[in-house]
Amino acid sequence: MATKVRVRFAPSPTGPLHIGGVRTALFNYLFAKKHKGDFLLRIEDTDQNRYVEGAEDYIVEALNWCGIPFDEGPGKEGDFGPYRQSERKEIYKEYAEKLIASGNAYYAFDTAEALDDHRKDHEAKGKTFIYNWHNREKLSNSISLSEKEVQEKLDAEEPYVVRFKSPANETLHIKDEIRGAMEIDTSILDDKVLYKSDGMPTYHLANIVDDHLMEITHVIRGEEWLPSLALHVMLYRAFGWQAPIFAHLPLILKPQGKGKLSKRDGDKMGFPVFPLEWKDPKSGEISSGYREEDFFPEAVTNMLAFLGWNPGTEREFFKIDEL
Ligand code: GLU
Repeated sequence: MATKVRVRFAPSPTGPLHIGGVRTALFNYLFAKKHKGDFLLRIEDTDQNRYVEGAEDYIVEALNWCGIPFDEGPGKEGDFGPYRQSERKEIYKEYAEKLIASGNAYYAFDTAEALDDHRKDHEAKGKTFIYNWHNREKLSNSISLSEKEVQEKLDAEEPYVVRFKSPANETLHIKDEIRGAMEIDTSILDDKVLYKSDGMPTYHLANIVDDHLMEITHVIRGEEWLPSLALHVMLYRAFGWQAPIFAHLPLILKPQGKGKLSKRDGDKMGFPVFPLEWKDPKSGEISSGYREEDFFPEAVTNMLAFLGWNPGTEREFFKIDEL
């Protein structure tokens, strides 16, 4: 039996959704509907420092306005909200512990000052500091310390993070549906933090665990996540899970191709970040100055669907179900 297609849009609520995010959501939605699959919305809100009040509501409202509904979520049938990672903390903790138990992750107790010193030491020698377990030099983690020392630190409740143990010397073969085949030398990779001292997972751990548990078959997201792909593929392998199919979309850039279009660019360029009004929760400032009623949602979705694609006809307008 063929597996049902399941895709997700997984924004972090760090501010208003911008047009690039809407495009990612639209592509996922259209892909799901074409294959009679499911489209999920997952709010990736585990980074407390970057959390912005009101951003989640804005994202949900923006998707509704565009006519991009999501298919499931926690709550009652017919009355559910999006999945929220902050409500799934216990799950990530359990999986971080599994990785430690299987030898694929380890505790690291290095303080911010110690890490800064290592960085400066390396810079003075013209080198870049890469935190990985096989560079044992002065690192304070459960690979460089004895079992007893580690236990003492845990008993004394010293702050720690959990880091992924990247393979020391391996050429990783990874595939992206858009970029094609890639090779990554694992010795250049940092052992990324998976779990933080505040009891929250990082994006990488939560994202992989959720994509697996939510049975996501295709990960379609912006190209800015391509540098994380090697880690994600290694995480799937470490858990013994099959990885989904990945497609990293080229980004919508500023005029003249000067960098990624960001949430802050809207006003400066006279280009709407998104037609829905955004009120900054701290300053109270209203952004973009564009009025929602000046735009038809279908105009926005058609503009996005036709970026880099054409059905090969003269037709210029499609309803969302035709798209
Ligand atoms: N939370 C990430 C973001 O804000 C999701 C990236 C992904 O889709 O894996 O873009």
